[in-house]
Amino acid sequence: MKRETPWTAEEVAELTRRWGAGQSVRTIRKAMGRSAGSITGKAARIGLEARPSPIAFVPRMRAGACPFPTIRDGTPVACGKPLAWAGDYCPEHHVAAYCRSESRAET
Ligand SMILES: [Zn+2]
Repeated sequence: MKRETPWTAEEVAELTRRWGAGQSVRTIRKAMGRSAGSITGKAARIGLEARPSPIAFVPRMRAGACPFPTIRDGTPVACGKPLAWAGDYCPEHHVAAYCRSESRAET
């Protein structure tokens, strides 16, 4: 696994500024040339306010499309696949949603 390049003080300042301005991880990632994981990990380590749940970012989907939030390129988006025959999610996420609510969170 590739070792992460250390963050410089300038980069930390830039991350803090961009994060505080509400820029998306995707935008910050492109601007700074770092991975989404690197950016969110660093933001957490330096105590930047956590972003709201991805669910809050997902726009209301058209009827008949799965609203399950997924991360694509570091950006929360709704799944958008056709729904299961009886459910609020596509077959794949119908299962995921049930498993998530019924099983204990792993730590
Ligand atoms: Zn789905």
